[in-house]
Amino acid sequence: MTLDKSKSGLVFNIQTFSVHDGPGIRTIAFLKGCPLHCEWCSNPESQSTSPELAWSASRCIGCHLCMKACPNKVISLGEHGEIKIDREQCKKCFTCADACPAGALRVFGQQMSVEQVLREVEADSAFYRRSEGGMTLSGGEALLQGDFAINLLKEAKCHGLKTAIETCGCVQWPVLEKACQYLNTVIFDIKCLDSDKHKQHTGVGNELILSNFKKMCTQFPDKSILARTPVIPGFNDTEEDVLAIIEFLKPFPNVKYELLPYHRLGEPKYISLDREYPMGSVKLSDEGANRLKAAAREHFGDRMVG
Ligand code: SF4
Ligand code: SF4
Repeated sequence: MTLDKSKSGLVFNIQTFSVHDGPGIRTIAFLKGCPLHCEWCSNPESQSTSPELAWSASRCIGCHLCMKACPNKVISLGEHGEIKIDREQCKKCFTCADACPAGALRVFGQQMSVEQVLREVEADSAFYRRSEGGMTLSGGEALLQGDFAINLLKEAKCHGLKTAIETCGCVQWPVLEKACQYLNTVIFDIKCLDSDKHKQHTGVGNELILSNFKKMCTQFPDKSILARTPVIPGFNDTEEDVLAIIEFLKPFPNVKYELLPYHRLGEPKYISLDREYPMGSVKLSDEGANRLKAAAREHFGDRMVG
């Protein structure tokens, strides 16, 4: 049966009670797939457009039921008795995850309908009303599943929910334009104004992203827009990088700006997916982060957030 991509989409997480991803208390629906591959990505399970299997050592109770359940016999024990999945040979049937009694094997990416997502989001409606919160779409890049994301936003509005999105902006303009019609708040990543550097660290140049941002600010002058920059050591952590972004943002009075200091919270997820963490051991010092925030405040005043 062919899936109707406007009615259902691949969702890898629904997180409740978030207070960092739009106004008030929010439920975040994380949609799978991303056109960028940022080296520092804290959601590596979001990047691929298909479901993925992850194994968590801390949850595993060593019952070996997964090994017995795998019809393709591609699960074995490693040197220290840990579960090893031959990912080249794995057929992604996910029988092992169903058999795991401890939740140590987990599938990232469930096909969900618009109604299923909204049912989960609406369970916390009382909290949204009191806090001006609502639903946020995130990812990955939610608009990569454009028809589904737009339908979800449209239906959420019909149900009286306030809506927000966290986007990397690297999507076709008509998709972003349509989504904006159903969005109260847009949180838009502007990572670096140097396209070559952008391409080196995310896999994609920034031309489409910057063009979309300008169009969005011009066409939707009353929309609440927050530009956000993850500050990444060795990529965009100089005053020159940040002030170039601020100069780019200045002509758009409806835009606020936030700097998000680099963190390593996503590192264990790479291990669970048998992937190497691309950032090595780099860290951003508090002093470095504070210096950039102070410089940004000096040049962008009360349009700075955080
Ligand atoms: S997804 Fe299927 S083939 Fe892959 S390890 Fe699990 S049971 Fe085996
Ligand atoms: S079934 Fe789950 S808990 Fe048991 S060994 Fe496999 S991963 Fe570990």
